[in-house]
Amino acid sequence: MGIVCCMGNQTIRLGRVFGLEITCNWTLLLIFALIAWTMATSVLPATAPGQSSLAYWTAGVLGALIFYSCLLAHEISHALMARHKGVRVAGITLWLFGGFTHLDGQPDTARAEALITVVGPATSLVLSGVGFALTLALSALNAPVLITGLVGWLALLNLVLGIFNLIPALPLDGGRLLSSLLWWRSGSRSAGVHQAVRVGVIFAYLMIAGGVFEALQGALLNGIWLAFIGWFLMSAGKSEDRQTQILSRMKGMPVSPAMVAPLIRIPDWLTVDQLLGTGPREVPIYALQDQSGQPSGFLSLADLMSISPSARLQHRVRDFAVSASQLPTTTIGEDLGSLVRRLGPGVGRGVLVMDGSEAVGVLTSTAPTVGARSASSPGWSWPT
Ligand SMILES: [Zn+2]
Repeated sequence: MGIVCCMGNQTIRLGRVFGLEITCNWTLLLIFALIAWTMATSVLPATAPGQSSLAYWTAGVLGALIFYSCLLAHEISHALMARHKGVRVAGITLWLFGGFTHLDGQPDTARAEALITVVGPATSLVLSGVGFALTLALSALNAPVLITGLVGWLALLNLVLGIFNLIPALPLDGGRLLSSLLWWRSGSRSAGVHQAVRVGVIFAYLMIAGGVFEALQGALLNGIWLAFIGWFLMSAGKSEDRQTQILSRMKGMPVSPAMVAPLIRIPDWLTVDQLLGTGPREVPIYALQDQSGQPSGFLSLADLMSISPSARLQHRVRDFAVSASQLPTTTIGEDLGSLVRRLGPGVGRGVLVMDGSEAVGVLTSTAPTVGARSASSPGWSWPT
């Protein structure tokens, strides 16, 4: 939502702000360096000539840091509004194209979605306004030209960030706003996304054409960059459209035919290595039992996969036992569409299906619509 969204999986943890997990992708360094370099070698020497290159580079790096803080403020505003509207926020990632707020689930109404979206560009535009006001104040006070120039350029960057994000091409904020407006008018979220993506594709083609034109005119790097963003928006928009259509087809489809039942029971004294080496892998959650055959909690396969190979030999699976309340759960009667909306990508990590207070099965993303399957692990015997 920041500049654009979506990402690879190699993330570095930066810290927590307002309880939000902030991570970054290594591609962020590329843009960070590009901003610092542009400021230090062309923008600042043109606005404030006659300074040392150390001064330009210090201001350039400082400027890039402030710019990323502004970008983070844009994402945090999306995240806080989402939380206010009852949507769980998984975290924020800064990467090559800017920032992305990961929402677990979706807002219930078009109005909530519009509000979550609009606060981002609004934050960037307000920051830009503050920056321009500060630039005027600094010039009136005869502050060093280097500082005034830096603040002025940051104000301009935030203005571009705010306006660029309002282009109606999903997953840009403008596209999301258009989609929520169409959702509000038609009453259907998936129809809104579908139409907004069709509009977005036109803008994406325009960006690609503009990029090619720019490259042919000699501005090679700018041209390639613009065309690349256009291409990215087009593929991200189309993929969102597909996902939304699948989700809308899941609406009204109950959870029960997609679950694996009964739960696979695993002896809790196995080592993690024994389980991962020879055990079944077809479901993401297992039920544990102790030596007397009594239930001793649940085990999430995803938790085990993150353990180092040496620790896998030392730890028994019961060290990682969790209770049903610590896992994502659903009920037999819930429909798949609302479950996916509620849990978002969390569904892929496995969901425990409850019948009252009893766990009766596991929902798995590998075969969500093939009807009830039994996962009683044929031919597999437990080591003791
Ligand atoms: Zn945004």
